[in-house]
Amino acid sequence: MNTPFINTNNQPQTMLQNIKECQNKTKISFYEDSENLSEVSKDFGGIAIGRSIARVYPKTAADCRDLINFANTHNIKFVIRGRGYSQGGQSLGTGETVTLDCSQMSTIEPPNLETYTVKCQGGTDWRSLALLTTLYGLIPKVMPFFPELTIGGILSVGGIGGNSHIYGCTSSNVQEIEVVTGKGEIKICNSHEDRELFESTLCGLGYCSLITSATIDLRKFKSNIKTFYLIFSDYKIWLAAQKWFVENQIDYLEAFCSPTPLGLQAKDKSWVPLNHWLYSLQISIEYDEQEPTEAILGEKTQGGYLIKTGVSFTVDFLMRYGARAQNIKKSGSWKLPHPWWECILPFSTLSEIFPQLLTKLPIFFGDGLTYRIFALEDNCPPSFMKALGLTLGLAILPSAVEPRNLSRVIDSFQKLDEWLLPLGGKRCLAGWLGEMSNQQWQQHYGDYYQTWKSNKKKYDPNNVFQSLCLKES
Ligand SMILES: Cc1cc2nc3c(=O)[nH]c(=O)nc-3n(C[C@H](O)[C@H](O)[C@H](O)COP(=O)(O)OP(=O)(O)OC[C@H]3O[C@@H](n4cnc5c(N)ncnc54)[C@H](O)[C@@H]3O)c2cc1C
Repeated sequence: MNTPFINTNNQPQTMLQNIKECQNKTKISFYEDSENLSEVSKDFGGIAIGRSIARVYPKTAADCRDLINFANTHNIKFVIRGRGYSQGGQSLGTGETVTLDCSQMSTIEPPNLETYTVKCQGGTDWRSLALLTTLYGLIPKVMPFFPELTIGGILSVGGIGGNSHIYGCTSSNVQEIEVVTGKGEIKICNSHEDRELFESTLCGLGYCSLITSATIDLRKFKSNIKTFYLIFSDYKIWLAAQKWFVENQIDYLEAFCSPTPLGLQAKDKSWVPLNHWLYSLQISIEYDEQEPTEAILGEKTQGGYLIKTGVSFTVDFLMRYGARAQNIKKSGSWKLPHPWWECILPFSTLSEIFPQLLTKLPIFFGDGLTYRIFALEDNCPPSFMKALGLTLGLAILPSAVEPRNLSRVIDSFQKLDEWLLPLGGKRCLAGWLGEMSNQQWQQHYGDYYQTWKSNKKKYDPNNVFQSLCLKES
């Protein structure tokens, strides 16, 4: 780690003086060297560029409380950062913020084997958490696909995993959280005590409060996984099969669609690419001894082709998207822009518009994981926006986009937003959001908007928590 904050850049003297004073008073080091600051000027999206005047690494809830208390009386603003995997400036500074980096808050307690829960600090990553709990025969109820994300980061955006159709989003599977509010109070909250704070923190984008620790639900698991890889040429059969697997609570479900190039076709006095869409499903089932057979797929998959099956250990399966990240890193595209976009729609709406939707999706994205469909249970916290009943999310997750293509991609996302949001679509808040106006936040939160605004006033009256994505004046 570099040397603590000692000198100035071009910030107003009072701001720097306040930070120095805060460092002296709290005995917590602030860093303002270029390595620390350039790292936090970017997120995984690589589209928005933020700026923080310093970076601080608290280790405990008491550290966070001391920092935030001081901030309240000395006009210091913080942006909370897990690992910066969000893609729209959610973890980036406004130019006047200090990055409150949670990475050194990563202690995990042994799981409670009576309540099937585990308590850990907010900067813990899901991989470390799951590797510990598996030693006790337990895993988090909903693991996000990518295990390197932090507990606080995931709980602040919702969190989707391969079994969210059974258990809902990750934030629905938390017993309790310890937070430090924007007022600088340490509070323990759950669905009975301080429920309002609990609900405004979960999926809250670090807007009102900082998650210093969380008690996460666990479940028993079987040691092996069998995966069936299916492909469909008819989207109606593919969607009906998804619905059937959701209703029958199959252990893990993943769905993709991808354009297959057929060549060029003559159109309007020119030659343009002709693509045919194919649709796939991955159905995975946990088992101990008796390996599941094809019979488990049921009649609903008739019309699809079983391409392959595979077996793995459950623990390896839970970490599988870590391998995808390694491959993207090797290809050099990790550092390129990733304009990721997700939208959650009622199943009926998505089924209705699906053929039209395919004509609007950009087709130059690359690997087959680009267009993912995920299903979600109803029990998400109130700040996680979704319609009731069976909902599907459409996710566009390119492994990277060349900078020269970025404006074209963003343009196509804006058009998708303009079309799908009035149809009741809700964006997942971890992705690229563009510059959201008050009106767009209002449209996103609907009836919950006033609660969202009043919670900010109540728990963070001095706007201590800010980000590029959520600026307050
Ligand atoms: C490769 C990759 C795979 C992904 N896979 C999934 C997935 O499987 N499922 C899924 O749901 N999402 C996924 N995401 C999307 C999303 O970006 C992350 O869910 C989320 O941003 C968490 O990442 P992070 O821990 O780095 O948090 P950050 O990006 O650093 O922060 C996200 C938001 O949470 C706030 N925050 C962070 N920590 C805290 C805290 N302790 N207290 C309060 N607020 C906090 C930040 O201020 C910010 O608003 C993925 C993203 C990438 C890049």
